[in-house]
Amino acid sequence: MTGSPAPQYDAVVIGAGVCGIYQIKRLVDLGMRATVLEAAADLGGTWYNNRYPGARFDSESYTYGFSFSRELLDEWHWKERFSGQPENLRYLNYVADKFDLRRHMQFNAKVESAVFDEAADLWQLCLADGRKLTSRFLILGIGLLSIPTLPRVEGIETFKGRSFHTFHWPHEPVELAGKRVAVIGTGATAIQVIAEIADKVGDLTVFQRRPNWSAPLNNSPISEAEMVEIRSRYDEIFAACSRTPGGFEHEPDRRGFYEVTREERVALWDQLYEQPGFGIWLANFREIFTDEAANAEFSAYIADRIRRRVKDPKVAEKLIPKDHGFGVQRVPLETQYFEAYNRPNVHLVDLSETPLVRVTETGLQTTEREFAFDIIVYATGFDAITGAYDHIDIRGAGGERLAEKWRDGPSTFLGVMIHGFPNLFMPAGPQSGSASTNYPRGIETGVNWCTDLLQHIRAHGYVRAEATAEAEARWTDHVTKMYAMMLMRKAKSWFTGYNSNVPGHEAGRVRYFVYNGGAPKYVARINDVAAKGYEGIVFDGESERPAAAAD
Ligand code: NAP
Repeated sequence: MTGSPAPQYDAVVIGAGVCGIYQIKRLVDLGMRATVLEAAADLGGTWYNNRYPGARFDSESYTYGFSFSRELLDEWHWKERFSGQPENLRYLNYVADKFDLRRHMQFNAKVESAVFDEAADLWQLCLADGRKLTSRFLILGIGLLSIPTLPRVEGIETFKGRSFHTFHWPHEPVELAGKRVAVIGTGATAIQVIAEIADKVGDLTVFQRRPNWSAPLNNSPISEAEMVEIRSRYDEIFAACSRTPGGFEHEPDRRGFYEVTREERVALWDQLYEQPGFGIWLANFREIFTDEAANAEFSAYIADRIRRRVKDPKVAEKLIPKDHGFGVQRVPLETQYFEAYNRPNVHLVDLSETPLVRVTETGLQTTEREFAFDIIVYATGFDAITGAYDHIDIRGAGGERLAEKWRDGPSTFLGVMIHGFPNLFMPAGPQSGSASTNYPRGIETGVNWCTDLLQHIRAHGYVRAEATAEAEARWTDHVTKMYAMMLMRKAKSWFTGYNSNVPGHEAGRVRYFVYNGGAPKYVARINDVAAKGYEGIVFDGESERPAAAAD
């Protein structure tokens, strides 16, 4: 115990997205003096910011919502199997209002720095508006995909029309009718935008550097009667989510890829292609993720589907990835995406043949020619996973900077704590279970675990908790080794820390961002740590304790 003055807060949560909303609920229920600091003007995180046309879940809505309150589950009616952004934001607001959480949130409250005061065992926070706050514990709910990135090309600021990153799509309606629109990128975001606006704009030109594998979302409305049925199955639904590696209802096909005939494989794939959601990725044979030949056979199947949907064979070939197989990058789900290219007003520019050179006052210039536009949409992705951490000046014991510690990639204990950064928790941090799962399922797990740990700390009257160096090293090594089994280690995607727009994140250097062991193993592991009295964590003046085995 220190003799220093008490901090203003027991806990400060940064971020009022899905994670921050649930975390503050748990803290308030414990009677802790806690607040949420949110940089944006309102709550919602991802669903507050990403207002681009077509933004919607690709998790089944009823597996995305919070599971912690039966009353909430009984009250809320998801209107679509994959609900759209406006409804998702309404849902998060409904949750915040129902549990009276808004009064524990501060908006337009951007945290610029967080410095650990070792003498007092607390965090000192500086906000962009000049305010200073202190808190015993700091909980980061700052998102995995919350720092948008623009191409590193000249002239972005010189464009005289309207331009925005999809993350900053304007809140007021954008007039698209008759407009010449460019979309740069063909990731999950672009695939949603392109399909949605193709028939609403005058002319649409898609600038593609590398195509992505994609399969139908197969969305549909949910009637009152269906919702009654879903409510009756909620226990079963969440039990299935906790059983499956991805935190979805989709369970992998347990038959061996090579144990069944080619006809049986195709029969499964035909069925999955018509089904809603991620079944095509997650209810497939497990070898798709680990075996080159199995992956190639399935990729050829999907390529054929694309050829059948796109009328111009040359365009179809351009839309088929050649540098990676299906599912080794995050699979976007689409609604009539490929059919958009059959429209006379939609054009595809292949940047791998004619790279982007600069943005001009009137549009975009490639090595081949100049294009004129009224609107440029940058669907160019995010400084993923660690970007949001790098954007706050976080300093731990001895003044160590987190951005420096993580320069070559994150190292964590369970994705939740960091050695050298006491009293800091990440319910959905890098290397935790959430990044590779249905986020809210992972987030609830992480928040519950952090809250239990806080209760443990309070019950013992501790003021300081820190992961040991050994525990962190073991976990990070465990996460790293798992990549060796996965084909995804070869992919140029944010799962491996690739982003050509972020210095140091170019291709070729894998960052071990994601825990690939699946939700059940992750949950078993963190529960085991807790059951063993939080081995791998030292409290107050304790000396080093034995580190937990990683798996
Ligand atoms: P992304 O997957 O990283 O895609 C970015 C796209 O922009 C890629 O096609 C990339 O091409 C292209 N690009 C980036 N910089 C470029 C440049 N300088 N010049 C030309 N092209 C450039 O980002 P995202 O589409 O925003 O998706 C990120 C993640 O957000 C998804 O994987 C998903 O997890 C999440 N998301 C979820 C949903 C949902 O739940 N429904 C919807 C959207 C997004 P390269 O491939 O060549 O790098």
